[in-house]
Amino acid sequence: MSHIKRRESIQVMVGDVPVGGGAPVVVQSMTNTDTADVDATADQIKYLHRAGSEIVRITVNNKEAAQAVPHIKDRLLKEDVTVPIVGDFHYNGHKLLVDYPEAAKALSKFRINPGNTGTKTRDENFCTIVEQAIKHEKPVRIGVNWGSLDQQLLADKMDDNSKLENPKSSKQVMLDTMVESARRSAELAEDVGLASNKIIISCKMSHVQDVVHVYERIADLLDYPLHVGLTEAGMGMKGMVASSAALSVLLQQGIGDTIRVSLTPKPGGDRAEEVRVCQQVLQSLGIRSFVPQVTACPGCGRTNSTYFQELAEEIQDYLREMMPVWREVYPGVEEMNVAVMGCVVNGPGESRNANIGISLPGTFEEPKAPVYMDGEHHSTLRGDNIAGEFREILDNYVMR
Ligand code: SF4
Repeated sequence: MSHIKRRESIQVMVGDVPVGGGAPVVVQSMTNTDTADVDATADQIKYLHRAGSEIVRITVNNKEAAQAVPHIKDRLLKEDVTVPIVGDFHYNGHKLLVDYPEAAKALSKFRINPGNTGTKTRDENFCTIVEQAIKHEKPVRIGVNWGSLDQQLLADKMDDNSKLENPKSSKQVMLDTMVESARRSAELAEDVGLASNKIIISCKMSHVQDVVHVYERIADLLDYPLHVGLTEAGMGMKGMVASSAALSVLLQQGIGDTIRVSLTPKPGGDRAEEVRVCQQVLQSLGIRSFVPQVTACPGCGRTNSTYFQELAEEIQDYLREMMPVWREVYPGVEEMNVAVMGCVVNGPGESRNANIGISLPGTFEEPKAPVYMDGEHHSTLRGDNIAGEFREILDNYVMR
């Protein structure tokens, strides 16, 4: 596993999930259903949790959503789903939490965006939410966001900057304001009476270098656990790569106690993709293990079919699907490594280095594929059912 030295932070309990203070980096995600639709929201929370989300956030944006929260929680508990649910509040959180105490009780954390708690009465509304958190013994995430930065604070910072002999760039002033908004809000929450072990901080932007810069500064300045991620990371590959880049740079420095990847899904796309990206980042960095990894070569002109790519994908899906069963019989199975290689150039070597590996023949005129187990030649598969037989060998290896 990795040699990363984690940044020291206070530990915050979100429901029964510890965040910070040396706890494993927590994977979280957010629903995109209408929270007022109890069944759809409960189903998606359950789905995200089954995919590996250890905390799930839902938006609580109006009274219908607030009224739905306790029913969502009840429905999940009936199905033995105990994942902590976080309420995302903007603009009217101070009213909803007071008017719907059952919602406040059902949630495991409140997310407050200090830039979105109202204009003239911003601090007052922020403090009301904090008072509700104290009353219901809940932690809060103070989630500063580039797209909804506290405009009054930004105007004050810009004003101060204009009086300097060597003013900073507007961008730098905005980044300073992000940090200041988080620091100042946490201080205000503690002044109201919220314990330091009830505060998590995030400061999200959509550009990798900005996120890295701001989190490095916050990590030096504050002791609270940090929720790390790129906001509005974007669609598909761009979102995944940008998020992975930002998270990797920070996690490698030990910064980050819980992570979320905010992908823009395709219409009808799989919401759990963001959970799998979080898991893959943590596993690639050697920070946590979730599912056995498949080592596969990229393929080249030595292969005359796409068979081995298909097999690699099939095996990765199979490993993921079997994890709930395998975890019961083989503790540590998630650290297993499986190699699926295209030909004899690197195939046998890579396969021997894996727990189980298969080296396909490259050209399929003579379909025979040696299988290696714990570094030794185990068998050679031939014929039309190489994939099925290899899956069987995997099963037997895990269940032995
Ligand atoms: Fe090409 Fe064989 Fe290397 Fe795969 S193992 S990339 S097929 S040479």
